[in-house]
Amino acid sequence: MTVLAGESRMTAWLADQQPAMLSLLRDVVNIDSGSYDKAGVDAVGARFENFFREHGLLTRREPLERFGDAIHVRLDDRPTNEKPVVLMGHRDTVFAKGEAGRRPFTIENGRAYGPGVADMKAGLVINAFVLTAFAKLGGSPSPLVGLITSDEEIGSPACRPVIEGVARSARAVFNSEPGRPSGNVVTGRKGGVFMQMRVEGRPAHSGGNFERGISAIGEIAHKITAIHKLTDLAKGVTLNVGLIRGGEAVNMVAPWAEGEIDLRYIDPADRNVVMAKIEHIIASSTIPGTTATLMIKGEFMPLNPAPPSEALFSVYQSAAREVGLKIEGEFSGGCADSGFTAAVGCPTICAVGPIGGAAHTPDEYLEIASMVPRAQAMALAIMRLGPPGT
Ligand SMILES: [Zn+2]
Repeated sequence: MTVLAGESRMTAWLADQQPAMLSLLRDVVNIDSGSYDKAGVDAVGARFENFFREHGLLTRREPLERFGDAIHVRLDDRPTNEKPVVLMGHRDTVFAKGEAGRRPFTIENGRAYGPGVADMKAGLVINAFVLTAFAKLGGSPSPLVGLITSDEEIGSPACRPVIEGVARSARAVFNSEPGRPSGNVVTGRKGGVFMQMRVEGRPAHSGGNFERGISAIGEIAHKITAIHKLTDLAKGVTLNVGLIRGGEAVNMVAPWAEGEIDLRYIDPADRNVVMAKIEHIIASSTIPGTTATLMIKGEFMPLNPAPPSEALFSVYQSAAREVGLKIEGEFSGGCADSGFTAAVGCPTICAVGPIGGAAHTPDEYLEIASMVPRAQAMALAIMRLGPPGT
């Protein structure tokens, strides 16, 4: 029979774990795991699997072909029909192979550095310790599982169905993206669509044969201007063509050009309106004779405040207060996997990981002192959610 851990036993056990947390964090930060580096992402996964095995938890790999495998974690093998609470996180980073060797895990003045240290290997580490704490201290009031994904930084092309499947039958999701520098968590996020447009023109010698040419670069310039004009800051709709390339030579009329478009929005209705306008811009040409195509390369759903998620946040907020943290919910323009879990109707709270900043840059840092209290806050929130049906 399950013996529930008292809150003070839970916080006391976690309070002693900072050195062990740092040691696991050091190991996983020092393994390169860029999203496209399947071997590296799987090596980070193997390190977590070892950790769970050492502590008697059960893991299951869901094989994925192109990207790292998804890893499911359970406290024990007791069968249950109750909906679990899910501790979620991704182990891929935005950094190229070799970054961990050049810039290994280091600690300086209370901060830890290294690729992915805050986004979000530290979040996975506290998830691992919270899962372990419940396993060691007699189980959790409602079933508790972990999900470690592999491709969030590129829009979760392979893990999205895995995440949605888990969330559809879950009671709540805690996504351990890094806490804001203020310590706040994220209760709302924008949705995002990441697209590539390609324009075809006709090549010609820019000196000898100019009239025959149709400039794809000339056309994409018009399209970029038109797409940027769709930005509506008051509505939270933004458009950014963040990458362009095209042409063959300075003395050739450009036969092709490509641009990568980033659309962010808050209201799902705006997504469809803006997408229709973009498709119209792609289909019509200012420079006659050009053609263009649009391809969606990745997409995140928005995390919008909804009553079930708000209730989850208030449980978390009061649990955090218990361990001395004053936490508010913040809105973020950044996208994350929490949008997928919220979109399928699962109460979700995001950025409950340890506090960090400067993600996706070499200055990325983690506030070491936040690891234990953030783990304690999460554990107490899980306890206070209580048994299923409460
Ligand atoms: Zn992240």
